[in-house]
Amino acid sequence: MSEARADGGFNTRAIHAGQEPDSLTGAVAVPIYQTSTYKQDGVGGLRSGYEYSRSANPTRTALEECLAALEGGARGLAFASGLAAEDTVLRTLCKPGDHVLLPDDAYGGTFRLIARVLSRWGVDHTAVAMHDPAAVAAAVTPNTTVVWVETPTNPLLNIADIAALAEISKNCGAALVVDNTFASPYLQQPLALGADVVLHSTTKYLGGHSDVVGGAVVTSTAAVGDEIAFHQNAMGAISGPFDAWLVLRGIKTLGVRMDRHCENAEQVVQFLTGHPAVASVLYPGLSEHPNHEVAARQMARFGGMVSFRMRGGEEAALKVCELAQIFTLGESLGGVESLIEHPGRMTHMSVAGSPLEVPSDLIRLSVGIENIEDLLGDLTAALA
Ligand SMILES: *Cc1c(COP(=O)(O)O)cnc(C)c1O
Repeated sequence: MSEARADGGFNTRAIHAGQEPDSLTGAVAVPIYQTSTYKQDGVGGLRSGYEYSRSANPTRTALEECLAALEGGARGLAFASGLAAEDTVLRTLCKPGDHVLLPDDAYGGTFRLIARVLSRWGVDHTAVAMHDPAAVAAAVTPNTTVVWVETPTNPLLNIADIAALAEISKNCGAALVVDNTFASPYLQQPLALGADVVLHSTTKYLGGHSDVVGGAVVTSTAAVGDEIAFHQNAMGAISGPFDAWLVLRGIKTLGVRMDRHCENAEQVVQFLTGHPAVASVLYPGLSEHPNHEVAARQMARFGGMVSFRMRGGEEAALKVCELAQIFTLGESLGGVESLIEHPGRMTHMSVAGSPLEVPSDLIRLSVGIENIEDLLGDLTAALA
């Protein structure tokens, strides 16, 4: 990696970090090294540092170096999915008897992984209001080894104060892990605020085109990076070369896409705020958002995700989801196309009946980068 390019501005790093032109052909796009193994020059004599593609693959290495450069971390690692990344991080940082603090409105899959899979390995957990540092400090136990943070949260768009939580984590000897999927490194860089590990579902904004499932981890220190890399190889939940290439390709336009996501979301928020069928709008950019000041301090802008509650309850919310046309009814988020969904019946079905249950009148939008007039026209019709 060329140091000058790796140290450039965000968009320069997104396009160049880890992505030197191919030394053999000069190819500007990193090749898809679709190979499982590598010829050795003698027994144990590696010609390139690569021996087997679970351990390392050049396309994945390019992505991993780029991810580390974007988050300002020591080491990046690319996984088969966001949840594969989460599982690997948790089983690196935790052992039986340990305790994890997680947000009481965490991504449903994160809650399921910790509450139903990790629990069977003797890892305990408590769901807390992560946007309230005092509640977090009170929930720490002598066995707490991980404080797991998501900000903004999915789907309620609560904001946690990363710097305050870093202080609490440091004081109790726990690692602070931040799921940065909703903000992306373009809007928020948790390692600079004191986090130990930052994690992404690259399926979302980093990939950006709804055509790949992937996960990423970036660590603040090389030591933690090496430990997670050991587990990545030992557990095997790696990103394949083509998937790594798709994420790398998506990342090149992350900055311009996020600018448009934010602009469109701001206009959608303005539209919904004044609408008679809407009871409330959840967006960290609103001055009445309970943690707006924290968001303004730690985020460059407020992102492309918008949630809102309908006056007419669940029935009204389901109707809007089904009437929308350009906003496609579907799970996931962060792609160029706008999506609409009903968290209670879709993404957050697995937390029904738990403390993480979401309101039934809630709608979540992933605001895409289409023309804003068309998006507002679609919402006008769906809400009429
Ligand atoms: C989607 C998502 C995940 C899980 O990622 P996958 O790639 O679906 O495994 C984790 N955290 C957040 C915030 C997400 O939105």
